[in-house]
Parts: sequence; structure tokens; C-alpha cells
Amino acid sequence: MEAVLFDLDRTLVDLQTYTDYGAAWEDTEAMIGSWDDLPTPETDWDAPTQRCMSILVALSGDPRWSRVSEAIAVHEMAAVAASHAMPRLAEALELAQGIPRAVVTLVAEAPARAVLARHGVDIPVLVPRRPDLRPKPAADQLREACRLLRAAPSRTVMIGDSTWDAGAAAGAGCGFVGVAATEDGAARFGRGVITGGDLVVALELAGRLV
Ligand SMILES: [Mg+2]
Repeated sequence: MEAVLFDLDRTLVDLQTYTDYGAAWEDTEAMIGSWDDLPTPETDWDAPTQRCMSILVALSGDPRWSRVSEAIAVHEMAAVAASHAMPRLAEALELAQGIPRAVVTLVAEAPARAVLARHGVDIPVLVPRRPDLRPKPAADQLREACRLLRAAPSRTVMIGDSTWDAGAAAGAGCGFVGVAATEDGAARFGRGVITGGDLVVALELAGRLV
């Protein structure tokens, strides 16, 4: 394995549980109106989270994107102080020492950097949501991370908790290992996707994948 890419939310830390995406959704709709038929795939996220992330995906390339992203980021930043580390984070970071690594996330840059700092995650290469990259489940953010790490996608593994992470990895030509604490959680990825019960197990599986 040349490099490992980590999703942020509910992979390294849990920010989502404390982020008021319901309020973010209301703020967003106040700006751009309601959007009935968002052209993005389903996830197992709650409706407000799915709605906010889907709006960002659907607005990719649209001039309104940055304003909407900033409105959502206010709520993400407000959740940083309450966020918690996912199980075995410290051990996984220790295990990943020496492997080129990046965080690839749909969270905006400022709250992503703040939550990484709060939990002592020393991974300087961060590819947050950005107006110039189509967000996950598109492959752009993963390709950008591989470019920054000078790693071949085929020798790089993405570790994440959502089907959007898996889809983005497939699109970028990276390997993928899901993090899923339960059998139900693992089942959401479908057959053929390798999953580990926590970050350490996922990282060990990733090392054997490519
Ligand atoms: Mg996630």
C-alpha cells in the first residue's frame, strides 16, 4: 500500500451526531429554495444530513455552492466541541505512522481542521469539500488526495463508513475498506466490500488489500 485515505466523519471522529444539519438545511433552503428531486444516491444517513450533502453534490459547479457550503459549515463548526473520537482512533493513528495519508471529507475545511486538531489527528493532507472538486461519491477528491501524496490510486486504499466513500474509491480506482461496527452496518456496503469492525482492523485489512 502506497497511501491510505481516511474519511473524516464517523470514520475518524463523530461530528455528524452533534451537527444540526436540520438547521443547516433550513438555512440552505432560505437561500436557494427547496429542491424536490436531488440527483444523488441514497445513503443510510438521517434525512437532514443526506439533504445537506446532496444539495452540495447537486450544486457542484454552481456559483451558489460556496455560499451554501459556508452556511452549512457554521453548523459543523458549532459541533466540534462536542465531537468524539471513533473507537481505537489513537491506535490506528499510531499504526498509520510512516504511511502517506490524507483525510478526504465532505465536511468544510475550517471545521474539518478544527475537529482533527481537537482529537490530535496529525494528518496534514486534507481534501475537504471544495468548489473546484466534485464531492464524494464522485472520485475527484480522492484523485486530488492521491496527487498530493504522489501515490498511485491503484496502490491506495480509502477507509470510510459510507457507501459514498465506497463509490468514490471505485471511481478513483482505489481500494476500499469499510468501517462498520455491526453486521447490519457491514451489510449496507453490499457483497464484495471488505469491512472491519473498527479503525485498527480496517487499517490492517487495507494493508493486505493492495
Ligand atoms: Mg463518513
